[in-house]
Amino acid sequence: MVKCSDMKYSKMFVKTLKTPPAAADTANHRLLVQAGFVRQVMAGVYTYLPLGLKVLQKISNIVREEMDSIGGQEVLMPILHPSSIWKQTGGWDKIDVLFKVKSRTDRDYALAQSNEETVTPLAKEWIHSAKDMPLAIYHINSKFRDELRSKSGIMRGREFLMKDMYSFHANQDDFDTFYTAAKAAYLRVFKRLGLVAKATEASGGAFTEKVSYEFEVLTDAGEAPVLYCDSCDYCVNVDDIKTYKLGDECPICKKDKLKSAMASEVGNVFDLGQKYSKAFDLTFIDTDGTKKYPIMGCYGIGISRTMGVIVEKFNDGRGIMWPASIAPFTVHLASINTNDESVIKRADEVYELLTKVGIEVLYDERTEVGAGQKLGEADMIGCPVRAVISTKTGQQIEVKMRNEKEAKLVSTEELIEIASKILR
Ligand SMILES: [Zn+2]
Repeated sequence: MVKCSDMKYSKMFVKTLKTPPAAADTANHRLLVQAGFVRQVMAGVYTYLPLGLKVLQKISNIVREEMDSIGGQEVLMPILHPSSIWKQTGGWDKIDVLFKVKSRTDRDYALAQSNEETVTPLAKEWIHSAKDMPLAIYHINSKFRDELRSKSGIMRGREFLMKDMYSFHANQDDFDTFYTAAKAAYLRVFKRLGLVAKATEASGGAFTEKVSYEFEVLTDAGEAPVLYCDSCDYCVNVDDIKTYKLGDECPICKKDKLKSAMASEVGNVFDLGQKYSKAFDLTFIDTDGTKKYPIMGCYGIGISRTMGVIVEKFNDGRGIMWPASIAPFTVHLASINTNDESVIKRADEVYELLTKVGIEVLYDERTEVGAGQKLGEADMIGCPVRAVISTKTGQQIEVKMRNEKEAKLVSTEELIEIASKILR
Protein backbone atom coordinates (compact mmCIF):
# COMPACT_ATOMS: atom_id res chain seq x y z
CA MET A 1 0.00 0.00 0.00
CA VAL A 2 1.16 3.53 -0.73
CA LYS A 3 2.23 5.29 2.45
CA CYS A 4 1.06 8.77 1.48
CA SER A 5 -2.42 8.82 3.00
CA ASP A 6 -2.08 12.58 3.18
CA MET A 7 -0.40 14.82 0.68
CA LYS A 8 0.22 18.50 0.11
CA TYR A 9 -0.59 19.49 -3.45
CA SER A 10 2.53 21.62 -3.87
CA LYS A 11 4.68 18.57 -3.08
CA MET A 12 3.12 16.35 -5.77
CA PHE A 13 5.47 16.21 -8.75
CA VAL A 14 2.49 15.66 -11.09
CA LYS A 15 0.06 18.52 -11.68
CA THR A 16 -3.10 18.57 -13.78
CA LEU A 17 -2.97 19.76 -17.40
CA LYS A 18 -4.88 22.84 -18.62
CA THR A 19 -5.87 21.08 -21.85
CA PRO A 20 -6.61 17.41 -22.52
CA PRO A 21 -4.14 15.30 -24.54
CA ALA A 22 -4.66 15.69 -28.29
CA ALA A 23 -4.84 12.02 -29.32
CA ALA A 24 -7.23 10.78 -26.62
CA ASP A 25 -10.08 8.80 -28.20
CA THR A 26 -11.87 7.85 -24.97
CA ALA A 27 -12.97 9.60 -21.79
CA ASN A 28 -10.76 7.44 -19.56
CA HIS A 29 -7.62 8.26 -21.57
CA ARG A 30 -8.42 11.99 -21.73
CA LEU A 31 -9.44 12.40 -18.07
CA LEU A 32 -6.74 10.17 -16.55
CA VAL A 33 -3.96 11.96 -18.43
CA GLN A 34 -5.36 15.46 -17.86
CA ALA A 35 -5.93 14.92 -14.14
CA GLY A 36 -2.44 13.44 -13.67
CA PHE A 37 -3.20 9.74 -13.01
CA VAL A 38 -1.37 8.16 -15.96
CA ARG A 39 0.94 8.86 -18.88
CA GLN A 40 0.91 6.96 -22.16
CA VAL A 41 4.29 5.46 -23.08
CA MET A 42 2.94 4.03 -26.35
CA ALA A 43 -0.42 2.74 -27.54
CA GLY A 44 -1.70 0.30 -24.91
CA VAL A 45 1.18 0.90 -22.48
CA TYR A 46 0.93 3.33 -19.56
CA THR A 47 2.88 4.63 -16.58
CA TYR A 48 0.76 4.93 -13.43
CA LEU A 49 1.59 8.14 -11.57
CA PRO A 50 1.15 8.46 -7.76
CA LEU A 51 -2.60 9.21 -7.95
CA GLY A 52 -3.20 6.46 -10.51
CA LEU A 53 -1.13 3.92 -8.59
CA LYS A 54 -3.16 4.63 -5.43
CA VAL A 55 -6.39 3.81 -7.29
CA LEU A 56 -4.86 0.68 -8.84
CA GLN A 57 -3.68 -0.52 -5.42
CA LYS A 58 -7.08 0.11 -3.84
CA ILE A 59 -8.81 -1.91 -6.55
CA SER A 60 -6.18 -4.65 -6.10
CA ASN A 61 -6.78 -4.75 -2.36
CA ILE A 62 -10.54 -5.14 -2.71
CA VAL A 63 -9.97 -7.98 -5.19
CA ARG A 64 -7.35 -9.51 -2.84
CA GLU A 65 -9.73 -9.44 0.16
CA GLU A 66 -12.50 -11.16 -1.77
CA MET A 67 -10.19 -13.83 -3.23
CA ASP A 68 -8.77 -14.51 0.25
CA SER A 69 -12.35 -14.80 1.56
CA ILE A 70 -13.01 -17.84 -0.66
CA GLY A 71 -9.71 -19.50 0.23
CA GLY A 72 -7.47 -18.14 -2.53
CA GLN A 73 -3.75 -18.06 -1.64
CA GLU A 74 -1.64 -15.32 -3.16
CA VAL A 75 1.68 -15.90 -4.91
CA LEU A 76 3.66 -13.91 -7.46
CA MET A 77 4.43 -15.73 -10.68
CA PRO A 78 6.79 -14.41 -13.37
CA ILE A 79 5.83 -12.66 -16.57
CA LEU A 80 8.82 -13.96 -18.56
CA HIS A 81 8.19 -17.59 -19.49
CA PRO A 82 10.25 -20.19 -21.33
CA SER A 83 8.67 -21.08 -24.69
CA SER A 84 8.74 -24.78 -23.71
CA ILE A 85 5.73 -24.52 -21.35
CA TRP A 86 3.68 -22.72 -24.01
CA LYS A 87 4.65 -25.34 -26.61
CA GLN A 88 3.54 -28.05 -24.18
CA THR A 89 -0.04 -26.69 -24.11
CA GLY A 90 -0.16 -25.67 -27.78
CA GLY A 91 -0.57 -21.99 -26.89
CA TRP A 92 2.71 -21.07 -28.60
CA ASP A 93 1.17 -21.68 -32.04
CA LYS A 94 -2.54 -21.19 -31.28
CA ILE A 95 -2.67 -17.87 -29.40
CA ASP A 96 -2.11 -15.06 -31.90
CA VAL A 97 -1.82 -12.33 -29.23
CA LEU A 98 0.97 -14.15 -27.35
CA PHE A 99 3.98 -11.84 -27.12
CA LYS A 100 7.12 -13.72 -28.18
CA VAL A 101 10.61 -12.56 -27.30
CA LYS A 102 13.95 -13.80 -28.62
CA SER A 103 17.07 -13.61 -26.44
CA ARG A 104 20.52 -12.75 -27.76
CA THR A 105 21.36 -16.44 -27.61
CA ASP A 106 18.41 -17.08 -29.93
CA ARG A 107 16.23 -18.68 -27.26
CA ASP A 108 12.44 -18.12 -27.39
CA TYR A 109 10.44 -16.72 -24.50
CA ALA A 110 6.83 -15.67 -24.01
CA LEU A 111 5.48 -12.76 -21.99
CA ALA A 112 2.62 -13.86 -19.72
CA GLN A 113 -0.71 -13.72 -21.50
CA SER A 114 -2.14 -15.95 -18.77
CA ASN A 115 -0.50 -18.20 -16.15
CA GLU A 116 -1.93 -21.71 -16.55
CA GLU A 117 1.49 -22.64 -17.97
CA THR A 118 3.30 -21.67 -14.75
CA VAL A 119 0.67 -22.52 -12.13
CA THR A 120 -0.05 -26.10 -13.25
CA PRO A 121 3.58 -27.35 -13.01
CA LEU A 122 3.78 -25.46 -9.68
CA ALA A 123 0.68 -27.18 -8.23
CA LYS A 124 2.05 -30.56 -9.31
CA GLU A 125 4.54 -30.44 -6.45
CA TRP A 126 1.76 -30.45 -3.82
CA ILE A 127 -1.23 -32.22 -5.36
CA HIS A 128 -0.97 -35.98 -4.84
CA SER A 129 -4.31 -37.08 -3.40
CA ALA A 130 -7.93 -35.89 -3.30
CA LYS A 131 -7.20 -34.44 0.17
CA ASP A 132 -4.84 -31.87 -1.37
CA MET A 133 -7.79 -30.18 -3.07
CA PRO A 134 -9.56 -27.83 -3.49
CA LEU A 135 -6.56 -25.59 -4.04
CA ALA A 136 -6.87 -22.02 -5.31
CA ILE A 137 -3.78 -19.99 -6.19
CA TYR A 138 -3.85 -16.41 -7.47
CA HIS A 139 -1.57 -13.52 -8.25
CA ILE A 140 -1.84 -9.90 -9.31
CA ASN A 141 0.69 -9.07 -12.00
CA SER A 142 1.17 -7.66 -15.50
CA LYS A 143 -0.16 -9.45 -18.55
CA PHE A 144 0.70 -8.87 -22.19
CA ARG A 145 -1.25 -9.06 -25.43
CA ASP A 146 0.30 -8.48 -28.82
CA GLU A 147 -2.58 -6.34 -30.11
CA LEU A 148 -2.42 -5.01 -33.67
CA ARG A 149 -4.19 -1.84 -32.61
CA SER A 150 -4.57 -0.62 -29.10
CA LYS A 151 -6.99 2.15 -28.26
CA SER A 152 -9.65 2.81 -25.58
CA GLY A 153 -7.06 4.17 -23.11
CA ILE A 154 -6.27 1.83 -20.22
CA MET A 155 -9.29 -0.33 -21.07
CA ARG A 156 -7.43 -2.26 -23.74
CA GLY A 157 -3.73 -2.54 -23.10
CA ARG A 158 -0.81 -4.36 -24.64
CA GLU A 159 0.45 -4.46 -21.05
CA PHE A 160 -2.09 -4.42 -18.22
CA LEU A 161 -2.54 -5.39 -14.58
CA MET A 162 -4.63 -8.44 -13.90
CA LYS A 163 -5.65 -10.71 -11.06
CA ASP A 164 -5.73 -14.30 -12.20
CA MET A 165 -6.69 -17.20 -9.97
CA TYR A 166 -6.48 -20.92 -10.74
CA SER A 167 -8.33 -23.64 -8.86
CA PHE A 168 -7.77 -27.41 -8.74
CA HIS A 169 -10.45 -29.96 -7.90
CA ALA A 170 -10.73 -33.71 -7.38
CA ASN A 171 -14.21 -33.93 -8.90
CA GLN A 172 -16.93 -31.97 -10.71
CA ASP A 173 -18.99 -31.35 -7.54
CA ASP A 174 -16.06 -29.74 -5.80
CA PHE A 175 -15.37 -27.63 -8.86
CA ASP A 176 -19.02 -26.52 -9.14
CA THR A 177 -19.10 -25.48 -5.46
CA PHE A 178 -15.97 -23.36 -5.85
CA TYR A 179 -17.07 -21.95 -9.21
CA THR A 180 -20.32 -20.74 -7.61
CA ALA A 181 -18.41 -19.19 -4.67
CA ALA A 182 -16.01 -17.47 -7.09
CA LYS A 183 -18.90 -16.01 -9.11
CA ALA A 184 -20.43 -14.62 -5.90
CA ALA A 185 -17.04 -13.18 -4.84
CA TYR A 186 -16.75 -11.47 -8.22
CA LEU A 187 -20.13 -9.82 -7.84
CA ARG A 188 -19.05 -8.59 -4.37
CA VAL A 189 -15.85 -7.14 -5.85
CA PHE A 190 -17.72 -5.16 -8.50
CA LYS A 191 -20.31 -3.97 -5.99
CA ARG A 192 -17.54 -2.67 -3.70
CA LEU A 193 -16.06 -0.87 -6.72
CA GLY A 194 -19.38 0.94 -7.22
CA LEU A 195 -20.24 -1.03 -10.37
CA VAL A 196 -23.23 -3.09 -11.37
CA ALA A 197 -21.80 -6.07 -13.22
CA LYS A 198 -23.88 -8.67 -15.03
CA ALA A 199 -22.61 -12.21 -15.49
CA THR A 200 -23.14 -13.36 -19.06
CA GLU A 201 -22.65 -16.84 -20.41
CA ALA A 202 -20.02 -16.89 -23.10
CA SER A 203 -17.85 -19.28 -25.03
CA GLY A 204 -14.46 -19.92 -23.44
CA GLY A 205 -12.36 -18.55 -26.31
CA ALA A 206 -8.83 -19.89 -26.56
CA PHE A 207 -8.97 -21.47 -23.09
CA THR A 208 -11.71 -24.04 -23.21
CA GLU A 209 -14.67 -25.41 -25.15
CA LYS A 210 -16.83 -25.29 -22.03
CA VAL A 211 -19.24 -22.60 -20.92
CA SER A 212 -17.73 -19.65 -19.05
CA TYR A 213 -18.96 -16.41 -17.55
CA GLU A 214 -18.00 -12.90 -18.48
CA PHE A 215 -18.67 -10.08 -16.06
CA GLU A 216 -19.93 -7.09 -18.01
CA VAL A 217 -20.41 -3.48 -16.96
CA LEU A 218 -22.85 -1.50 -19.10
CA THR A 219 -21.11 1.58 -20.53
CA ASP A 220 -21.24 3.51 -23.80
CA ALA A 221 -17.49 3.10 -24.13
CA GLY A 222 -17.83 -0.70 -24.08
CA GLU A 223 -16.78 -2.79 -27.04
CA ALA A 224 -19.34 -5.58 -26.98
CA PRO A 225 -23.09 -5.28 -27.65
CA VAL A 226 -25.22 -7.06 -25.04
CA LEU A 227 -28.91 -7.67 -24.46
CA TYR A 228 -29.96 -7.37 -20.84
CA CYS A 229 -33.00 -7.31 -18.60
CA ASP A 230 -33.63 -4.62 -15.97
CA SER A 231 -35.87 -6.87 -13.88
CA CYS A 232 -33.41 -9.71 -13.41
CA ASP A 233 -29.75 -10.62 -13.97
CA TYR A 234 -30.22 -11.85 -17.51
CA CYS A 235 -27.56 -10.55 -19.88
CA VAL A 236 -26.09 -12.07 -23.05
CA ASN A 237 -23.38 -11.12 -25.45
CA VAL A 238 -25.12 -10.51 -28.80
CA ASP A 239 -22.18 -12.00 -30.72
CA ASP A 240 -22.40 -15.27 -28.77
CA ILE A 241 -26.12 -15.86 -28.51
CA LYS A 242 -28.26 -14.86 -31.47
CA THR A 243 -31.52 -16.48 -30.28
CA TYR A 244 -32.98 -13.22 -28.91
CA LYS A 245 -33.20 -9.66 -30.13
CA LEU A 246 -33.95 -6.19 -28.80
CA GLY A 247 -37.53 -5.86 -27.52
CA ASP A 248 -38.04 -9.63 -27.03
CA GLU A 249 -39.46 -10.74 -23.69
CA CYS A 250 -36.81 -11.68 -21.12
CA PRO A 251 -36.52 -15.51 -21.34
CA ILE A 252 -35.76 -15.84 -17.60
CA CYS A 253 -38.17 -13.64 -15.62
CA LYS A 254 -40.64 -12.88 -18.47
CA LYS A 255 -41.39 -9.56 -16.72
CA ASP A 256 -39.53 -7.16 -18.98
CA LYS A 257 -38.40 -6.56 -22.53
CA LEU A 258 -34.72 -7.02 -23.44
CA LYS A 259 -32.74 -3.83 -23.84
CA SER A 260 -29.53 -3.40 -25.76
CA ALA A 261 -26.38 -1.63 -24.58
CA MET A 262 -22.66 -1.60 -25.06
CA ALA A 263 -20.73 -3.36 -22.31
CA SER A 264 -17.18 -3.77 -21.13
CA GLU A 265 -15.88 -7.05 -19.86
CA VAL A 266 -14.19 -6.57 -16.48
CA GLY A 267 -13.76 -10.19 -15.45
CA ASN A 268 -14.30 -13.78 -16.46
CA VAL A 269 -14.40 -17.26 -15.00
CA PHE A 270 -13.56 -20.33 -17.07
CA ASP A 271 -14.10 -24.02 -16.55
CA LEU A 272 -10.80 -25.35 -17.92
CA GLY A 273 -11.73 -29.00 -17.47
CA GLN A 274 -8.65 -31.24 -17.53
CA LYS A 275 -6.91 -29.52 -20.46
CA TYR A 276 -3.96 -28.18 -18.46
CA SER A 277 -3.67 -30.99 -15.93
CA LYS A 278 -3.37 -33.39 -18.89
CA ALA A 279 -0.87 -31.16 -20.72
CA PHE A 280 1.44 -31.15 -17.70
CA ASP A 281 0.56 -34.68 -16.53
CA LEU A 282 -0.71 -33.40 -13.17
CA THR A 283 -2.41 -36.42 -11.56
CA PHE A 284 -3.64 -37.49 -8.12
CA ILE A 285 -4.74 -40.73 -6.51
CA ASP A 286 -8.47 -40.54 -5.84
CA THR A 287 -10.22 -42.09 -2.80
CA ASP A 288 -11.02 -45.21 -4.87
CA GLY A 289 -7.30 -45.72 -5.53
CA THR A 290 -7.40 -44.73 -9.21
CA LYS A 291 -5.15 -42.13 -10.85
CA LYS A 292 -7.02 -39.06 -12.11
CA TYR A 293 -6.46 -35.59 -13.57
CA PRO A 294 -7.76 -32.66 -11.48
CA ILE A 295 -10.42 -30.34 -12.92
CA MET A 296 -9.21 -26.76 -13.14
CA GLY A 297 -10.87 -23.35 -13.14
CA CYS A 298 -9.45 -19.97 -14.14
CA TYR A 299 -10.72 -16.64 -12.80
CA GLY A 300 -9.56 -13.28 -14.17
CA ILE A 301 -10.21 -9.65 -13.26
CA GLY A 302 -8.62 -6.89 -15.31
CA ILE A 303 -7.50 -4.47 -12.58
CA SER A 304 -6.26 -1.63 -14.83
CA ARG A 305 -9.09 -2.24 -17.27
CA THR A 306 -11.67 -1.97 -14.46
CA MET A 307 -10.11 1.36 -13.45
CA GLY A 308 -10.70 2.57 -17.04
CA VAL A 309 -14.30 1.34 -17.01
CA ILE A 310 -14.93 3.15 -13.71
CA VAL A 311 -13.70 6.43 -15.23
CA GLU A 312 -15.94 5.89 -18.26
CA LYS A 313 -18.94 5.35 -15.96
CA PHE A 314 -18.26 8.06 -13.40
CA ASN A 315 -17.34 11.39 -14.97
CA ASP A 316 -18.96 14.64 -16.02
CA GLY A 317 -17.85 17.57 -18.14
CA ARG A 318 -15.49 18.71 -15.40
CA GLY A 319 -13.64 15.52 -14.50
CA ILE A 320 -13.66 12.15 -12.78
CA MET A 321 -16.08 11.20 -9.96
CA TRP A 322 -14.39 8.33 -8.09
CA PRO A 323 -16.43 5.92 -5.96
CA ALA A 324 -15.25 6.47 -2.35
CA SER A 325 -13.85 2.92 -2.00
CA ILE A 326 -11.11 3.52 -4.58
CA ALA A 327 -10.71 7.33 -4.71
CA PRO A 328 -7.04 8.38 -4.44
CA PHE A 329 -8.03 10.55 -1.44
CA THR A 330 -11.34 10.79 0.39
CA VAL A 331 -11.13 14.55 0.97
CA HIS A 332 -9.76 17.23 -1.34
CA LEU A 333 -9.07 20.17 0.99
CA ALA A 334 -8.45 23.59 -0.58
CA SER A 335 -7.59 26.92 1.02
CA ILE A 336 -8.93 30.04 -0.68
CA ASN A 337 -8.07 33.70 0.04
CA THR A 338 -4.60 32.64 1.14
CA ASN A 339 -3.60 36.29 1.61
CA ASP A 340 -5.65 35.96 4.79
CA GLU A 341 -3.38 34.57 7.55
CA SER A 342 -6.35 33.14 9.47
CA VAL A 343 -7.37 31.04 6.43
CA ILE A 344 -3.92 29.43 6.23
CA LYS A 345 -3.92 28.77 9.96
CA ARG A 346 -7.41 27.26 9.94
CA ALA A 347 -6.77 25.11 6.80
CA ASP A 348 -3.48 23.77 8.24
CA GLU A 349 -5.36 22.89 11.44
CA VAL A 350 -8.15 21.03 9.57
CA TYR A 351 -5.53 19.17 7.52
CA GLU A 352 -3.72 18.05 10.69
CA LEU A 353 -6.99 16.94 12.30
CA LEU A 354 -8.16 14.90 9.29
CA THR A 355 -4.74 13.27 8.96
CA LYS A 356 -4.69 12.46 12.67
CA VAL A 357 -7.96 10.53 12.51
CA GLY A 358 -6.74 8.60 9.45
CA ILE A 359 -8.79 10.26 6.72
CA GLU A 360 -6.95 10.36 3.40
CA VAL A 361 -6.66 13.99 2.39
CA LEU A 362 -5.13 15.86 -0.51
CA TYR A 363 -4.43 19.39 0.70
CA ASP A 364 -4.18 22.13 -1.93
CA GLU A 365 -2.31 24.66 0.21
CA ARG A 366 -0.76 26.65 -2.65
CA THR A 367 -0.77 30.40 -2.12
CA GLU A 368 -0.02 31.45 -5.72
CA VAL A 369 -3.10 29.79 -7.25
CA GLY A 370 -6.57 31.33 -7.40
CA ALA A 371 -9.93 29.90 -6.27
CA GLY A 372 -11.22 29.09 -9.78
CA GLN A 373 -8.19 27.00 -10.65
CA LYS A 374 -8.16 25.17 -7.31
CA LEU A 375 -11.83 24.22 -7.55
CA GLY A 376 -11.46 23.22 -11.20
CA GLU A 377 -8.55 20.92 -10.37
CA ALA A 378 -10.50 19.39 -7.47
CA ASP A 379 -13.33 18.51 -9.90
CA MET A 380 -10.87 17.11 -12.42
CA ILE A 381 -9.13 14.81 -9.90
CA GLY A 382 -12.52 13.75 -8.56
CA CYS A 383 -12.11 12.93 -4.85
CA PRO A 384 -15.59 12.32 -3.35
CA VAL A 385 -15.52 15.15 -0.74
CA ARG A 386 -14.38 18.70 -1.50
CA ALA A 387 -13.67 20.84 1.56
CA VAL A 388 -12.97 24.56 1.16
CA ILE A 389 -11.70 27.02 3.73
CA SER A 390 -11.88 30.73 2.95
CA THR A 391 -12.23 34.08 4.71
CA LYS A 392 -16.01 33.66 4.40
CA THR A 393 -16.18 30.20 6.03
CA GLY A 394 -14.55 31.34 9.29
CA GLN A 395 -14.43 28.45 11.78
CA GLN A 396 -16.64 26.36 9.50
CA ILE A 397 -15.80 24.39 6.35
CA GLU A 398 -17.62 24.51 3.02
CA VAL A 399 -18.25 20.94 1.94
CA LYS A 400 -19.46 19.72 -1.42
CA MET A 401 -19.76 16.12 -2.56
CA ARG A 402 -18.27 15.57 -6.03
CA ASN A 403 -21.53 14.01 -7.28
CA GLU A 404 -23.81 16.71 -5.82
CA LYS A 405 -24.46 20.33 -6.77
CA GLU A 406 -25.07 22.02 -3.43
CA ALA A 407 -22.35 22.96 -0.97
CA LYS A 408 -22.97 23.33 2.78
CA LEU A 409 -21.17 24.74 5.81
CA VAL A 410 -20.16 22.20 8.44
CA SER A 411 -17.93 21.89 11.50
CA THR A 412 -14.68 19.88 11.53
CA GLU A 413 -16.46 17.09 13.43
CA GLU A 414 -19.21 16.97 10.81
CA LEU A 415 -16.62 16.81 8.01
CA ILE A 416 -14.91 13.85 9.72
CA GLU A 417 -18.32 12.18 10.08
CA ILE A 418 -19.16 12.74 6.38
CA ALA A 419 -15.77 11.41 5.23
CA SER A 420 -15.96 8.36 7.49
CA LYS A 421 -19.54 7.56 6.51
CA ILE A 422 -18.94 7.31 2.75
CA LEU A 423 -16.22 4.73 3.34
CA ARG A 424 -18.50 2.38 5.28
ZN1 LIG B 1 -35.50 -10.70 -16.79
